Amino acid sequence: MSSEAPASIGDRIGFAAQLVGLPVFSLYVVLCMRLHGGELMWPGADFWSGLRAPTAATAGFYAAWIALQLALAAWMPGARVEGPPLEGGGRNLYRRNGLAAMIATYAIAAAVVASGVLPASFLYEELVPLAVTINLGAFVLSVFIWLTGRRQASDAERDRGFLEAFYLGATLNPRTGPIDWKYWMQGKPGLTLWGLLALSCAAAQAERHGEVTNAMMLVCAGVTAYLVDYFWHEEHILSAWDVKHEPMGWMLTWGSCAMVPLVYSSPLPYLVVEPVSLSWPAFAAVAALGAGGLFVFRQANTQKHEFRRDATTKIWGRPAEYVETARGTKLLCSGWWGLARHCNYLGDWTMSLAWSLATGLSTVLVYIYPIFFAGLLLHRERRDAAHCARKYGDDWERYVERVPKRIVPFLY
Ligand code: NDP
Repeated sequence: MSSEAPASIGDRIGFAAQLVGLPVFSLYVVLCMRLHGGELMWPGADFWSGLRAPTAATAGFYAAWIALQLALAAWMPGARVEGPPLEGGGRNLYRRNGLAAMIATYAIAAAVVASGVLPASFLYEELVPLAVTINLGAFVLSVFIWLTGRRQASDAERDRGFLEAFYLGATLNPRTGPIDWKYWMQGKPGLTLWGLLALSCAAAQAERHGEVTNAMMLVCAGVTAYLVDYFWHEEHILSAWDVKHEPMGWMLTWGSCAMVPLVYSSPLPYLVVEPVSLSWPAFAAVAALGAGGLFVFRQANTQKHEFRRDATTKIWGRPAEYVETARGTKLLCSGWWGLARHCNYLGDWTMSLAWSLATGLSTVLVYIYPIFFAGLLLHRERRDAAHCARKYGDDWERYVERVPKRIVPFLY
């Protein structure tokens, strides 16, 4: 649905279904990966008996994790960057300290392991109660963000019903002191945990099998490269369309806190149970696919970012071409943006496929990330297109005529 139109009954049923269904889905994936070697299980009573309530260790870890990520975001030094223009005028300021926060987190994690407080395989070993803890934590954070957002909402935003305000968000940019919840949520609690979970799975594989296989190394390297790239270009997220236009609620909170470390990570626990070793040609092919995806993803996002900063920028060595809109905004038609309207999605998705391919073809659940992500990106592209069509009217039509493909050059 559009964030600008009131939610219909159908939308509300969808919100309620996702509030229940998505956490259950994430727990299903974790149980299959952690306890059943990635087998697609029938979710009967026997299956769910494997679920574990949060333990003191997982609850303590996650509380400390959230506190650490908040403290680093608030106090780690970093350049101030301006966000997009706000409806009411002005721009919010953000601190670009994600990479420093990530490095500090890894250093603290290394110290925690070296001092024997927690074993390196802790995140893998405790994955089941941790998944429950993370889902509960996402709800707690969502309630806090909803209450914060409600206090900061405009009059128009206050008209949203409870379910809509909780699920989609009560306001665009809820803030508490130095923390902008949307900016923080996009990267800090979920992405960084995904990176540490990858290393924890590698440690668990080494403990069980006496080696870290090349497939595990490849997935760990891919996830780490994705994280470093994200935080290196952290301010680019400020031009993502949900950051600019969508309120901040449960959907974004759960997606960032729970979906990323629990569902996107599915190849990793599988590799602990099945220590796949790739032939060197297969290794090279998967690495090239992942690196190619990262290249397209980054170059497409950077082309748009640079163009929006300076429309006279050169793309692939030539002056940028664009469609001028009546609102004054320019729509880029050069580089990746001349081949399809969302090559950045294609690059992102290609990476997800590569890390799953690294595990081989023996179970469908290791492909849950590219499958789920394909649905998410296809839906997101439609929502973005509808939003842009409303915003730019006939100018958008002219742009679509010039760049007819949505995501895949020449195909779709
Ligand atoms: P985009 O970065 O493509 O942003 C879309 C917005 O850009 C539009 O709403 C419009 O905003 C503007 N725009 C559209 N076309 C053009 C053009 N030709 N020239 C200039 N501006 C244009 O998409 P997203 O914000 O959805 O995604 C950003 C990145 O985040 C992507 O790489 C995506 O893969 C990734 N992502 C990752 C997810 C994950 O779970 N890992 C989830 C979602 C996204 P306006 O004109 O209003 O400024």
